[in-house]
Amino acid sequence: MNSLALDARPIGIFGGTFDPIHLGHLRTGFELLQSLQLSELRWIPVGNPGHREPPLAAAAVRLEMVRVAIAGQPGFVLDDREVRRSGVSYTVDTLEGLRAEHPARPLCLVLGMDAFLGLTAWRRWADILTLAHLVVAHRPGWQRPGQGPLSDLLAQRGTTHAADLHAALAGRIYVHAVTQLEISSTGLRDIITAGRDPRFLVPEPVRAIIRETGCYAAQTD
Ligand code: ATP
Repeated sequence: MNSLALDARPIGIFGGTFDPIHLGHLRTGFELLQSLQLSELRWIPVGNPGHREPPLAAAAVRLEMVRVAIAGQPGFVLDDREVRRSGVSYTVDTLEGLRAEHPARPLCLVLGMDAFLGLTAWRRWADILTLAHLVVAHRPGWQRPGQGPLSDLLAQRGTTHAADLHAALAGRIYVHAVTQLEISSTGLRDIITAGRDPRFLVPEPVRAIIRETGCYAAQTD
């Protein structure tokens, strides 16, 4: 593959609260990086989520947890733009920034199915599809929409061909079956608050940060 072809590959974008990042996120990102042949996957911790409870861990701690979690994985990149930006973090603003920086590269926004089901509540949600493709990862316990605007959107924009994500800059929706890991940040915080150990659900360096900072309180020993 020559360098021009390399430059044309899509950039993946994995946004989230990451409070904390866990193996469900990491395995999903890894499988998508490989199977969709993304040039890179940018991990973008949200600064101020606006639409939900503020994160428990400070932005700097969540950033650091993502940094250590993805360290050493080629193609995984930490992007701190939402944490640096003031005010509520809107995905559409992030995508506009990335589009301006990469006018000729397909952008693939990665979402779990739970997040996709809430898409119509996002700011300027229809504009998101003019800026990026959506890559929806199956998540345990969540079904694809059977009716309503998101079901219609899937019928119009859905594709089962990863090549379609390379052939256009934005606008397609690709639902991808990833290894189902029933891990959630909420569940992890509950484990830690109950004084139990999150070992083997988060990377070891993330577990170390959780212990050192006490960001979710109760210690495991
Ligand atoms: P919370 O329990 O606090 O809602 P979460 O585990 O869903 O947190 P987020 O940081 O909110 O974590 O998730 C970021 C993105 O990762 C979302 O699009 C979400 O759907 C997706 N995601 C989270 N956990 C998984 C998982 N186990 N498998 C696949 N996708 C996931």
